[in-house]
Amino acid sequence: MRLEKERKAIVEYGQKLIRAQLTTGTGGNLSIMNRAEGLVAIKPSGVDYFAMKPEDVVVVDMDGQKVEGRLKPSSEISFHLGLFKHRPDINAVVHTHQVYATTIACLNWELPAVHYLVGLAGNKVPVAPYATYGSKELSENILNTIGNYNACLMANHGLVTLGVNIAAAFAVAEELELVSRLYYQAKCIGEPAILSDDEMIPAMEKLNTGGNL
Ligand code: 13P
Ligand code: ZN
Repeated sequence: MRLEKERKAIVEYGQKLIRAQLTTGTGGNLSIMNRAEGLVAIKPSGVDYFAMKPEDVVVVDMDGQKVEGRLKPSSEISFHLGLFKHRPDINAVVHTHQVYATTIACLNWELPAVHYLVGLAGNKVPVAPYATYGSKELSENILNTIGNYNACLMANHGLVTLGVNIAAAFAVAEELELVSRLYYQAKCIGEPAILSDDEMIPAMEKLNTGGNL
């Protein structure tokens, strides 16, 4: 079986997405790139995370051609492959419908630096314009918005996060749910104080050199 280690990690982290309430049903998707082989392991489309086995995970090349697997790859394959091409520094992509981050995305707002943990993504989380799920247009909107950020809100849809490995991409999604919730709650009772770039730069340096959260 090609990319066996990566396929097992897709199953493990898919289940973690549901357990951490970062997505529901068969929503969301995740992928891992093996750069030495030039191949990507990606969640199959529309499959229950707890029914998914390593052999159900689809292996594709960088043109999206199936190399191994009998199921259809995720409908969002276009932005997964696009992100791996756009960002040679990352090896994992996670897409979720997590509730608080998606609430911000439904307002078509960016997520500002209301808490230092936003630094896992950058000095904020930008928002990509809406387009139909699974479309080339959605992929283009994300690629035109994300730049060097490690995350991007998807208007009226969800969130996409990046990492050097799947654990890192998962952690960005999990911590951004906390930050999104804090922003929502702070907005409910007042106007939250936003950290300046001068305040965020040292936090980002620590977070990105493996400092404890
Ligand atoms: P897939 O099941 O095809 O991965 O789609 C889920 C999703 O979240 C679409 O945006
Ligand atoms: Zn989605």
